[in-house]
Amino acid sequence: MITDQMQQQVASAPDIAIVNATILPMGGGAMIEQGTITLSGDTILAVGPAAAVDVAGAKKVIDARGRIVMPGFVNCHTHIASNMLLRGLLEDVQLFEWLQTMWKLKCNFDPETLYWASLAGLIEMLKSGITCFNEHFDAYAVSPQIRALSDVPLRATLGYGFADRGVYASIGDWSWTALDTFSDKVAAHHQSGNDRIHLGLSPHAPYSCGEDMFRNVREVADALGLVIHTHLAEGPQELKYVAETYGTTPVQWLHRLGFLKGDVTAAHCTQLNDDDIRILAETDVKIAHCPCCNAKLNSGTLRLRCVCEAGITVGLATDGPASHNSLDQFQEMKFAGMIHKDKTGDVEFLKTAELLELATSGAAKAMNRSETGVLEPGKKADVIIVDLDTIHCAPVYDVSAALVYSARADDVKTVIVDGRVLMEERELLLGIDEAEVRSRFREAAYRLRDRSL
Ligand SMILES: [Zn+2]
Repeated sequence: MITDQMQQQVASAPDIAIVNATILPMGGGAMIEQGTITLSGDTILAVGPAAAVDVAGAKKVIDARGRIVMPGFVNCHTHIASNMLLRGLLEDVQLFEWLQTMWKLKCNFDPETLYWASLAGLIEMLKSGITCFNEHFDAYAVSPQIRALSDVPLRATLGYGFADRGVYASIGDWSWTALDTFSDKVAAHHQSGNDRIHLGLSPHAPYSCGEDMFRNVREVADALGLVIHTHLAEGPQELKYVAETYGTTPVQWLHRLGFLKGDVTAAHCTQLNDDDIRILAETDVKIAHCPCCNAKLNSGTLRLRCVCEAGITVGLATDGPASHNSLDQFQEMKFAGMIHKDKTGDVEFLKTAELLELATSGAAKAMNRSETGVLEPGKKADVIIVDLDTIHCAPVYDVSAALVYSARADDVKTVIVDGRVLMEERELLLGIDEAEVRSRFREAAYRLRDRSL
């Protein structure tokens, strides 16, 4: 006989229980030794010490003894489809020269090439523990990446790219048409894949979009309730262009247009004066901080301490793999720690726990996806298991220090997104052959280069 109590137990039994773990919940939560986390469907059911979490009836039990369980990394600014095809193509130049050469290849993109590039980028992120990302589409064709996301189902906000100035002038007509018909795209894709996939609007930058385009993006975002994702104050060349064209700073120009609100994620922001920081704080704009890319392209360094003191939400991001050549939040955390200690002259600035928050909960908030980035009941079941029992991490006196300064992407063993195990013990559970993806992607990339340069 099945009693009501038994039925209730079956109904609330977890699908997955991860046991014997050292849990880093993030979002300010304290580390839990000998912890257990349970997942039900796409949601976290319970997190706590083993004695406090019921695992009865769990369909799958993962023993994480000696390992770290934490939220998947969130990459709050990147360009997967386009930038995978441009990685390592051009080194040792500044931003504008780099963008011009990249454009020659972008003019020759085709859907099949973008599909293999997207697939390769998604697999690279998955294998480095990134479970959620903020795509800024500067490849302009979106459907190949949406197709790839059905093969590698990460959580994503896909910002359709728009531009109409400079080297990007040729996509002006396409951009205006896409903006005029954006409600069709929303109906087709927004909140699809069990709400994993969101759509956003991504005007490229203050040097590549005119005033009318920024105003129109703001109107469409307000009308459709979508987020915005743009590049802002990225380097000295942008600062000079905006000063000469509009007589002000990029932040103050966009503020004048009524563009800046809490739904905007602004990537880079390396060139902010005190007034700019005050405006970003007042308008609740979020910053995607890409320290590796900014240093490599000589774009400057975000004034992170001032920005944090002003109360601005900041997350870490890799930018596209063309600009600093990998999709790996371990590298961003380590480099952020080092460059900000150096720039501030203060070795106590930016502790390891803060760097971990920037790469998880901070980045989730910075892309307005706070349903992820933290392990607590009710949040999305986006979880990674990291093995620190390696020669390059030993001995582990301090888990946060090991994760930030010693661990590597390959130390991520298991990745769960939306409650589904996508990688277990570094084996992809996706029904796709990684060797084939590498080979098809490489062939497509070489063909693209050969017909473009
Ligand atoms: Zn970017």
